[in-house]
Amino acid sequence: MKIGIFGGAFNPVHNGHLTLIDVLSRVPMHPDFRNLDKFIIVPTADPPHRSGADFASGIDRVNMLRLALKNNDIFEKNVSYKRLEISDIEFSMVGKSYTYNTLKALKALYPEDEFYLFMGSDQLFTFREWYKYKNILKMARLVGFARSNGDNSKIKQFLIENKDLGADAVYYSPIEVSSSAIREKLKNGESIENLVPKAVENYIKEHKLYV
Ligand code: ATP
Repeated sequence: MKIGIFGGAFNPVHNGHLTLIDVLSRVPMHPDFRNLDKFIIVPTADPPHRSGADFASGIDRVNMLRLALKNNDIFEKNVSYKRLEISDIEFSMVGKSYTYNTLKALKALYPEDEFYLFMGSDQLFTFREWYKYKNILKMARLVGFARSNGDNSKIKQFLIENKDLGADAVYYSPIEVSSSAIREKLKNGESIENLVPKAVENYIKEHKLYV
């Protein structure tokens, strides 16, 4: 099987994340990505010393992801992965949930399968600073994508200059939104309509998150 892996804090999940998932599932940009059999979303564990207003609990972040995947206008009709999953693997890991450790744990579950590790341009450009990055490359193929407009050409250049990473890219027009901008808006009492699915907005309000 070809398995896509998409990690992040998802604090909260937003339409930028969802648009990317949608694009990956249906646009025939690359034969490998189009044919992913499974796409696993991996929320990070609760970081030590971070909680309360700024960092929602793992349970809340997973609940919001579940709601977002079920109820939103972006891809309800389009997403065609045979299996789109949210993994709680990092919640049960001891110590720091480095991507290297997470991939090792996932490899134990899927020893025969090919991994594609998806990451935004911000992460791709600093990938060489990641813990055991060379070992990550033995387990997964990197796939970068734009986080904001203008990133596509930077990614192209990065791939030319860093051929040894064997990375690939998905080129598309991202939605310019971030979880931190959403949290900031909520703190200031501003609307987050159209930045997250309605069901996620309601969940945030009901559970008084990020205020
Ligand atoms: P924060 O603003 O708190 O740093 P974030 O919006 O970057 O959060 P994360 O959960 O940290 O969200 O991101 C998870 C993954 O999604 C990363 O690979 C990141 O590059 C990517 N990503 C974040 N925002 C977008 C976006 N608007 N479009 C596409 N990818 C995004």
